This record gives sequence, C-alpha cells and structure tokens, in this order.
Amino acid sequence: MSYPIYSDWTWSYSRISLFEECPYAFALKYLYNDDNVQSNFYANFGTYIHRIHELYYTGVLTKAELVDYYIQHFDDVGPHKHRSKYFIEGLNYFEDGVAVTPSFIVGVEKNILFKVGEYNFTGFIDLLYKNNDGTLTICDHKSHVLKPRSRRKTPTVSDKELDQYLKQLYLYAHGVHQLGLGSVGQLQFNCFRGQITVSERYSKDKEDEAVEWATNTIKKIEGATEFMPTGEWYYCHNLCDHRGVCEYI
Ligand code: SF4
Repeated sequence: MSYPIYSDWTWSYSRISLFEECPYAFALKYLYNDDNVQSNFYANFGTYIHRIHELYYTGVLTKAELVDYYIQHFDDVGPHKHRSKYFIEGLNYFEDGVAVTPSFIVGVEKNILFKVGEYNFTGFIDLLYKNNDGTLTICDHKSHVLKPRSRRKTPTVSDKELDQYLKQLYLYAHGVHQLGLGSVGQLQFNCFRGQITVSERYSKDKEDEAVEWATNTIKKIEGATEFMPTGEWYYCHNLCDHRGVCEYI
C-alpha cells in the first residue's frame, strides 16, 4: 500500500527529520493521525524559552523584565527530575540578558513558505536579523548545547552533530534567498542553556546539500510502503510524542 496523500502537502524540516528518526513515529503522526500525543519536559522547556525570546525581541518584555517573567511562569514547564537544573540554567541565561542583541531585526518567529525542489516547504525562523555588512543572520534558539566547529582535518562527532543541525538552517537560508529577503551571511545557534552562541559563515555548497538531502528524503517518504520503528531507547522512552501508544516499546 502506498500513501498518495502527499501531493498537497507542505513539507517541513520537522516532518522529514521525524521520518529519519523513526518512520513508525512519522506514520503514527501523519498517516494514522494519532492525536494521543505525550509532550515532554524538554520540549516544554524549549517552547517556554522560545516564548520569552519572542516576547523580548518583539518588544513586549524589556531586558529588565526577563528574569521576573521567567520565574513567574516557570510552572508552565511542568514537573521533572531535572527541573531544578534547567530552571537554574535558564535563570543564569536571563540574568545575563539574552545572548544575541541585534540592532536591526528583520523577523521574529518568521514563517516562510517556499519551494524545496518541486515541493512546498515551510519553516519558522526564530530570529532573522541584519548584520553590519548588510547580510542576514538566521538564528535558532536551542536548548541542546552544541560545540563550535573544531576545524580539525577529520570532523569530530560534535562537528557532525553541528552539520546535522545546520541542515535546518540551510533550508531556511534557501527560503530566505528564494523569497528575496536578502543575502544570508551567517547561520547561528543560540544555545541558551550553555550560554554559548555557535555561528557559521554561510556556504552555498551547504545550502545545495541541504536541499538535496531534503528532496531525497521526501522522495524516500513518498515511496515508502513500510514504516518500521527505529527510535533509539532514550528517544522512545522520553521524547517520542507517541510513546504512550507505540506497541514497540
Ligand atoms: S516510541 Fe520509539 S519506536 Fe515507537 S514510534 Fe516513538 S520513536 Fe518510534
């Protein structure tokens, strides 16, 4: 059985990366419409911090109000054994202000609709801002702490992880260019828990690679007739939205 439903789909990084994580989770979410989803503390925390960033960058909260707001609404994140650790990390981050303070903001949580090959694609850019030289930075707020590129001859595990995350930002760069919003000069991760900003100079080759990866993955999904469970133990038991209904764990 094949699934002809994709013809009118708008694809996104999260859709195709979920298929890469676990085809069965993809099927539960998008083909079987499992609405019995279970959230998790880490996702809630990330969403909460994104919300505060959005309030700050759109001028609703001032820098001086960040800490109070963060403390007052932290209950939204929910209980977890690592709650105190994450609370302190977030508190330290907002006590120091926010890490990225651009002088010219182009967009916050900016929704872009564009084409990746023949496919309709969408994305939300956490923060799009102009650099001093007139180029743009695509900035993504991340709970996960990434390491800056090692610059070693042989890429390290951390370098490979960074490249994996950069695919998403390169797809957004593709959209920014296609929509004529400007020329992307830099891609950036604001890793707020670690209070570290990881920035990379834009590369056209890497944008092309990300587009190729996305189109190939979409073709693979379109051709798939079986959606096997491939989630790793930790992901399955802690992060997967469908862990409450999955019969494989
Ligand atoms: S619990 Fe694991 S195997 Fe089941 S759908 Fe989620 S990721 Fe896949």
